[in-house]
Amino acid sequence: MKAFLLVGISVLMGMSLTLVAAEDSVATRKPVLVCSTTQIADFTREIVGDQCVVKSILAPGADPHTYMPTPQDAKIVLGADLCLQNGLHLEGKNWMGTLARDANKPLVTCTKGIKPIELEAEGEKIADPHAWFSARNVAVYVNNILRAVSRLDPSEQGRYAARAKLYLQQLRVLDVWVREQVNRISPQRRILVTSHDAFNYFCQEYKFNSQYNYLSLAPVGWSTGSEVGAGMTPRRRKKVIDSIRNYGAPAVFVETSVNPKLIREIAKEAGIDVGGKLYSDSMGESGTAGETYIGMMRENVLTIVTALKIGVKEGKQE
Ligand SMILES: [Zn+2]
Repeated sequence: MKAFLLVGISVLMGMSLTLVAAEDSVATRKPVLVCSTTQIADFTREIVGDQCVVKSILAPGADPHTYMPTPQDAKIVLGADLCLQNGLHLEGKNWMGTLARDANKPLVTCTKGIKPIELEAEGEKIADPHAWFSARNVAVYVNNILRAVSRLDPSEQGRYAARAKLYLQQLRVLDVWVREQVNRISPQRRILVTSHDAFNYFCQEYKFNSQYNYLSLAPVGWSTGSEVGAGMTPRRRKKVIDSIRNYGAPAVFVETSVNPKLIREIAKEAGIDVGGKLYSDSMGESGTAGETYIGMMRENVLTIVTALKIGVKEGKQE
């Protein structure tokens, strides 16, 4: 009888423990946010902190224009509460939109509300997707993400808003710092040549390539993929080499997510240096200086300033 009672009590205790565990896992299940690119994942993480699980479909160094989603990506999106993308056709052939639609998941487009730079290519107007290269535009991304996660998880709204506010302050500090750094380069040497047109917003915001209406100079055009107006053409390549010669560009830059071969050939042909590697459509690996948006902007600006500032290479400081 005594033994039976003990067994009965332990069974009951076991049951109640199981119940507590089940309730606990429901209570602590964090919303899962699946982002298309490393930048979107970083902005999202800055806002949600540890309150949500944030995943990025693209790994550091991957190219969003040409990316082909895998069955594993579809599985990740199936577990999402919310999907987030850059939009403006950065995700080539709408791969993030397709993943979200197939899994029947809500999708937030973070560039919504940004006035895009319009490019003319092959008689068509194309909205440039690389809007994050102006730190001011990132404020729009942040507000879009904040609105979406607050709607998804209203109980944590206050914390999300507080983190977003702090991050917006950091972005303003970054923007001021970039302007100060860029001012160290004389205006006629502010010529940015890269593989593909990722830097139009950067050039416009921070006054590079003034002779080209602040548009970037790139042999590959606005996308590395096969969309309208994208891809390397002999005409584009020639224009870039002519511009380097006409305006005396001190250096050209390779991008971490694009094959460096073409830009190296152009540097050789124009007889100038490769000034270093820039983060463009992807941020750095975890543990590198470019693993966050602010880190990648800082590294880019330091690389650009070092390569373009008058006399640095020859050791003749201004
Ligand atoms: Zn791009």
